[in-house]
Amino acid sequence: KKLDSSQIRAMYLEFFKQHGHTIEPSASLVPKDDPSLLWINSGVATMKKYFDGSVVPKNHRLTSSQKSIRTNDIENVGKTARHHTLFEMLGNFSVGDYFKKEAITWAFELLTSPEWFGWDKEKLYMTVYPEDTDAKKFWQEAGVAPDHLIDMDDNFWDIGQGPSGPDTEIFYDRGEKYDNLAPDDPENYPGGENERYLEVWNIVFSQFNHKPDDTYEPLPRKNIDTGMGLERVVSIFEDAPTNFETDLFMPIIEKTQSLSDGKKYGENAQDDIDFKIIADHARAITFAIGDGALPSNVGRGYVIRRLIRRAIVSGHRLGIKDDFLYQLVPVVGEIMKSYYPEVLEQKDYLEKVIHSEEKRFNETLSDGLQLLGELMDNLKKTNQKTVEGKDAFKLYDTYGFPLEMTKEYLEDAGFSVDETGFKAEMQKQKERARNARGNDKSMGVQRDLLIDIKTPSEYVGYSQLEVDDAKL
Ligand code: ATP
Ligand code: MG
Ligand code: MG
Ligand code: MG
Repeated sequence: KKLDSSQIRAMYLEFFKQHGHTIEPSASLVPKDDPSLLWINSGVATMKKYFDGSVVPKNHRLTSSQKSIRTNDIENVGKTARHHTLFEMLGNFSVGDYFKKEAITWAFELLTSPEWFGWDKEKLYMTVYPEDTDAKKFWQEAGVAPDHLIDMDDNFWDIGQGPSGPDTEIFYDRGEKYDNLAPDDPENYPGGENERYLEVWNIVFSQFNHKPDDTYEPLPRKNIDTGMGLERVVSIFEDAPTNFETDLFMPIIEKTQSLSDGKKYGENAQDDIDFKIIADHARAITFAIGDGALPSNVGRGYVIRRLIRRAIVSGHRLGIKDDFLYQLVPVVGEIMKSYYPEVLEQKDYLEKVIHSEEKRFNETLSDGLQLLGELMDNLKKTNQKTVEGKDAFKLYDTYGFPLEMTKEYLEDAGFSVDETGFKAEMQKQKERARNARGNDKSMGVQRDLLIDIKTPSEYVGYSQLEVDDAKL
């Protein structure tokens, strides 16, 4: 079936609308009234208020395509076929309304009915929690063969206390050409390490209350929460080797190609990783800044800064000489305009923010890379493997290299960083700044206030220790 990304998103929402769901808009990436979360990282993250009972939804059936950011996947980007920092999660939710039977039956109908996705059911594998006999029964009644149902011990969603329950995940068999493991490899099964089987959808049955005494009691009203990655679904429709060779990313890659020094996508594995990093991060920063976050040294801002700088280093490796990231904003806007017209509306602002951040980092990039090169040469000469904390700190403090980026760069070349040493240097700098502030009380107070405002809600790096934003 030939559908593009906009049609697929619309089809998902339409399917659940026809099954009585209300379509919720894609909420801001910046969580509202939720200090426990740095970014919205799933559809359900925006629905917490309904699931914890603090707000009663008009309709207990909801569906959405929710933009989501996952910082834990930053370093997967470009290296796996399926991970992004920003992606869209399609989801359907039951707030104490329907439960397992409907969730499973509808999922199977959407995926396999010729009127909808029309996928071949032979390509689908479902993992289930071994004790969840209901889920197995409903999948079989829907038409799944027993040998396509796979027991998986860790299919249980539990955060220690509160609502919890089994889940079931849907994998798509992309065919032998994607086998990266031998047939007899013990990890060669859906849910294992074989990239042939792509996880597309996770359906969570929250049916227990995990009590403080570690017992589980059935919830009086059971909930459904699901998440399906739009980019992965699109890659299946377009039979793409990775999520990137799809209409959601190729125009960004093509634009980057045209700005590079004759590099072509698909010719060299390392170049391809850099093209993918740039395409992914361009989307993430565009949407994050569009939702009101700004580059800085703390919290969300630090994530944006880290993504921008990682993308710039990739651009540098591709031989791009000029500032380029900001030029990708209109391309992202064009791709996403059917569901996110606000990107093109904010184009000038987004370009300005990204461009100024780019100019700032480009002032120190070459010198920083040179230092990094020298550090590695010295290690090689003396047959050592670890960069000292004070050197990594110099890269951070003087050249604006986020520690995570330095680490990744070095690891790719077989080296590591003394992180304890780095933290100690950071601490020393913090004390120096504190002492300096002592001389100028009013400035200090004002700065403390600013730091408080910018203090992140979740640990994301060493950024909280940083005090002098102006340095970078
Ligand atoms: P994976 O095992 O592939 O990392 P996950 O189990 O961490 O995925 P879930 O938390 O179950 O993912 O999220 C629900 C769905 O969202 C996944 O089945 C997948 O389709 C999609 N998804 C999750 N993380 C990403 C990501 N970083 N980029 C793109 N899609 C993602
Ligand atoms: Mg994951
Ligand atoms: Mg998974
Ligand atoms: Mg999952």
